[in-house]
Amino acid sequence: MKMNDTQFRLMKQQLQRVTAFSGNLYQKKYAGIDISAVKTQEDFEALPFTEKEDLRDCYPLGIQAVPDSEIVRIHSSSGTTGTPIIIPYTQKDVEDWAIMFARCYETAGITNTDRIQITPGYGLWTAGIGFQLGAEKLGAMTIPMGPGNTPKQLRMMQDLKSTVLCATSSYALLLAEEIEKQGIGSNIHLKKGVIGSERWDDKMRARIATELGIELYDIYGLTEIYGPGIGINCCRETPMHYWDDYLYIEIIDPQTGKNVPDGETGEIVITTLRKEGAPLIRYRTHDLSRIVPESCSCGLKFPRIDRIIGRSDDMVKVKGVNIYPGQVEDILKNIPGVSSEYQITIDHVSGKDVLILSVEMENGTDTAAAEQAIGTAFKTKVGLGITPKGVAMGSLPRSEKKTTRIFDYRNN
Ligand code: ZN
Repeated sequence: MKMNDTQFRLMKQQLQRVTAFSGNLYQKKYAGIDISAVKTQEDFEALPFTEKEDLRDCYPLGIQAVPDSEIVRIHSSSGTTGTPIIIPYTQKDVEDWAIMFARCYETAGITNTDRIQITPGYGLWTAGIGFQLGAEKLGAMTIPMGPGNTPKQLRMMQDLKSTVLCATSSYALLLAEEIEKQGIGSNIHLKKGVIGSERWDDKMRARIATELGIELYDIYGLTEIYGPGIGINCCRETPMHYWDDYLYIEIIDPQTGKNVPDGETGEIVITTLRKEGAPLIRYRTHDLSRIVPESCSCGLKFPRIDRIIGRSDDMVKVKGVNIYPGQVEDILKNIPGVSSEYQITIDHVSGKDVLILSVEMENGTDTAAAEQAIGTAFKTKVGLGITPKGVAMGSLPRSEKKTTRIFDYRNN
């Protein structure tokens, strides 16, 4: 997406800020790069990416770009794998985050007469406190529950007549099931759910929406870039509007690192335009999405990215075409008689890449017709010729955890 003049000016200010602050990670990262020579979008796109690893390497506060006296808070990524990442915030960063988050609620049609029950965790983690700040900014009544204690959640939800539920998709589903089990649906006043944007499938979405009788909204964000609240879908369409007065978003081919044309799927790369405490330039999120170039029927001018379809680490390239699990699932769900259980095998046979897609088919399905439909859908939607293979239900391996679905034997 083309960077506008304001974005370019703010980006230049960020470059100056980070390189001027003693000890900031970009002083090392940009050593040998003349920042003043960045004069066009192409120059900007030639700057190296910032990786999560860079943030770990400068633990704890090497990302800081203002004096200690200006820092009012820190947050941290969960750090389940190795060194955590610490993100310092100034007063203005906290305020900007609240403004963005309030905008998210407004975009979802939530107002100051709503009662917002917040179930994500508070603390070092950015989730709960972000939901809280935005709701207060909006002027709504917040119910800061934090995670767990389902009986108390349900009691508050009924007694205080919560109208909005903020939750992860799995916790929203758990609450929905519990409400159904207890038969207390008629005491629930929820109208909308604001759900963290990890990839969750349409089946789960439908179950939560139906059982709670609510509209669902996907909110986007990551700890390194404020936290949740940097984008959300509106009440008209599924792609998410994002706040381009605070962020510049690029979509890149995760393998070549080059920008892809608007509308094509790739990895989201974010530059913070106004962040003071911990500015990030060209930060690779590893989330896969695309810019949605069409304007939205809601009339909001903020640009949009599509729902997150997966992680770039799960992507493979076959005959020059990128394939993602989310994309395969989207194709399969539209073909009758075909289940969502599949496995991809890629091999190099007599000088050519071959992709075999094995899919479980429901009993009684016309396998040949379904195979042909899958092949055609791949050709038109992905631009790739594949070999579809219908197999019996239950014949593909399953695992409790994340099932590996792509097997690439080309380098063996
Ligand atoms: Zn919209």
